[in-house]
Order: sequence, then C-alpha cells, then structure tokens
Amino acid sequence: MTENFDTIVCGGSLAGSAAAVTLARQGRSVLVLDKAEFPRTKLCGGLLTWKTVRLLDHLFGETPETLREQGIVKYVSDQYSIRSFTSTLAEGTLSYPFHLTDRVELDNRLLHLVRQAGAHVREGEEVVRCDPESGEVHLKDGRIFRGRYIIGADGAHSTVRASFPEVNLRAMRRFTAATIEVKIAAADYPEPVDRPILYIGFLDAGYGWVFPNGDHLLVGICGLRRRDTHFAKLFRTYLDVLGVDPAVITHQRGHPLPYGSFLHDPVHANAMLVGDAGGYVEPLFGEGIFYALCTGMYAGQAVAQGLKNGTAPGPEYLRRLHRTILPELNGSNTLRWFLFRAMKLFGSGAISRFVNLGAGPLGDMVHGKRSYHWLKKKDWDF
Ligand SMILES: Cc1cc2nc3c(=O)[nH]c(=O)nc-3n(C[C@H](O)[C@H](O)[C@H](O)COP(=O)(O)OP(=O)(O)OC[C@H]3O[C@@H](n4cnc5c(N)ncnc54)[C@H](O)[C@@H]3O)c2cc1C
Repeated sequence: MTENFDTIVCGGSLAGSAAAVTLARQGRSVLVLDKAEFPRTKLCGGLLTWKTVRLLDHLFGETPETLREQGIVKYVSDQYSIRSFTSTLAEGTLSYPFHLTDRVELDNRLLHLVRQAGAHVREGEEVVRCDPESGEVHLKDGRIFRGRYIIGADGAHSTVRASFPEVNLRAMRRFTAATIEVKIAAADYPEPVDRPILYIGFLDAGYGWVFPNGDHLLVGICGLRRRDTHFAKLFRTYLDVLGVDPAVITHQRGHPLPYGSFLHDPVHANAMLVGDAGGYVEPLFGEGIFYALCTGMYAGQAVAQGLKNGTAPGPEYLRRLHRTILPELNGSNTLRWFLFRAMKLFGSGAISRFVNLGAGPLGDMVHGKRSYHWLKKKDWDF
C-alpha cells in the first residue's frame, strides 16, 4: 500500500521544518522524511543574523529569550573582528547582536515544533529516489510514499535535486565550497574570544572563522576548491597560525557548502527545491540558516495556496524567490568577486579600507536591514 499525502518534505532540518510547519498549520497533510535520527550532528557555525531571529519568531514563535532559556542560543555579541594572519583589519560594534546557537539543538527543537503542528515526521528514513511527475518518493527499504507535491529540503547532496533533468550538477559543484570545522574548549584556545572573528586573505575565495559558542569555540574554514588547494593541509596551517595545539582537536569534519551555486529555477513538475538543496546560501559570508528557513517557508506557502486554489504552486514559489531572495544572493555574489579581486590586487588592507568606509550600513546589510543590492533598505515579506 502506498501512503498518500498533500506534500512530502524530504529533509527535516531548517528548510524542511519551515516548509512543513507552514503547511501543517494550514491543515494540510505533510510527511517529513529524514535519514537521520534527531538530535543528530550538524556541522555549522550557528550564527544567526537579525533577519533570522525575526523569521524564527514568525515561523516558530521562538525568540532569542526562549532559545536562550532552552540552551540553544549559547552566546550573544554585537561585536565583530575581521583579521588577516598578521593584523586586525576591521572591528567594531553592530546595530544588532549576532546570536550564536547550537545547531544540533536548534534543529531538534524546530522538528519537535513541526510534529506538534500536526505534520507526520519519520526519522531514520532515507530517500533514494523520487519522481517529480508522479509525486512518488522511494525509500531505501523499498517503501514508496506519494505526495501531490514534493519539497526537496535534503541539503547540499540533495537526492530530490538529482531527479531534476535540467540542473547542471557540474556547475553547482564548481560553486560549492569545501568546509572544515572543529569544536575547541574555550580554555584550550590560546586567547579569550568574546566575539565572532573572521580570518581572510589566505584563500582566493573563502575565509576562516572563530565563533564563541558557550564553553567552547567553533573554528573553521570554507572556500572554493582550486585544483592546487589541499584543504586539510590548509586547515592545519590555519590552526597553526592561530596557535591551536593539534592535540586538543578530537573530531575534524567537513561538509559541502553551496557558495554561489544557487538555482534560478528550482521547480520541476510537482517538485521544488529549498535551502542548500537549491544552493540558497549567501555567497560572501556563507549565511545559509536564514535562506533555508525563508525558501522553505515560501515553498510551504506556495503549496498551501496552490492546494487551496487548485493551481500549480511552482510559479508562486518562483515569484517570491525572484523578488526577495535572488536579488540578495546576486548582490552578494557581485560584492564577493569585487572584494576577493581587490584583495588579490591590493592585499588584505583593501578590506580594511572598504569596511571602515561604511561599517554601519555594511553591518546592517549582513543582518538584512539593508540589501546586498546597493545597500538599499530591505523590506522582507514576512
Ligand atoms: C561548516 C559550516 C558552517 C556554517 N555556518 C553557518 C553559520 O554560522 N550561519 C549560517 O547562517 N549558515 C551557516 N552554514 C550554512 C547552513 O548550515 C546551511 O545553509 C543550512 O544548514 C541549510 O539547511 P537545510 O535545511 O537546507 O539543509 P541541512 O541542514 O543540510 O539539512 C538537510 C537534511 O536532509 C537530510 N537528508 C539528506 N539527504 C537525505 C535523504 N536522501 N533522505 C532523507 N533525508 C536526507 C539530512 O539528514 C539533513 O537533516 C554553515 C555551513 C557549514 C557547512
């Protein structure tokens, strides 16, 4: 027997939870399938910007205070530093703080709220294939579910995306960054860290980070792979320059990060892609949490509206994506090539001059109060 649902959401992380909660609250039957059992490990810096905090409240009713009470927000800071290996290039105070979270706990909490909203959530269920025409979703153990619509929220290695005939996977891979991140006890780090720090200038297109996260730090690098970049070796050099004793590193892991690979047409037949599956990550700083939540919500709202009116949801999802999300990603993409080129030509000092020219508006741009498109005031539609 094949079970039928209005929508099947493949992937129960941020993008999937945002889509599913939106549909479940409108009384639609939703099945969420995730191959992992939650809480599951998740490699991420966990940094939330102003727009993300607003969206989490809008979608899930979670605020910085409730997230802090649950131990999900681990650290709050309105300070930042941008450094090269030899000097501090820019630092200062922002108009709104960054909230640094535990992604394992955040994802677990949101999926719990999805379940509470009435969605069917099945963990430990791996999708191996789907058919966007018939709405069939095939699991590893041979079972098949059918949805009128399929939402692909299954991350950077998306299986749903593999069923889209027109997606150029080679082009997507070219603009997918490699990342490595480790967790270090704050006491084992050579200096106290009271703010998020970015390290630039040692990768053609990428950067490193040191983020405070409660009693430990998250230390990582991300960058587009060039043929001659040995990423693990580069990470060892990075740790060495930071003065980290290799003996304190217990687990070192990597994960792909969409970094300029966002799709303009993530709809095929009755399926659509959201979050990392569609490459929706801001291509300068690698912010993906907000874009996963926002594209998930748009897809959920488009499907709910389509089911109500008997119309196809794809055009509505594309309309909102093109109006609100893609201008940001395109603007950030242009800015990153400008900055990375300037750094190559004039050294890291170019960044120092650029940031110090307009630190306030640039900080507001990162938070989403202003747009990556000419720093205009940004209006979000939620
Ligand atoms: C090292 C690193 C640091 C980062 N730091 C930040 C940061 O500080 N701030 C920020 O905003 N963004 C950051 N990002 C980006 C952010 O983590 C992602 O953009 C975000 O997690 C995307 O969410 P998602 O729901 O689209 O996908 P994911 O979070 O990747 O979730 C995909 C889900 O799908 C499931 N799945 C996958 N395949 C299948 C399958 N075949 N069947 C069933 N289930 C499946 C997985 O188990 C997973 O739960 C970082 C990313 C990396 C790699």
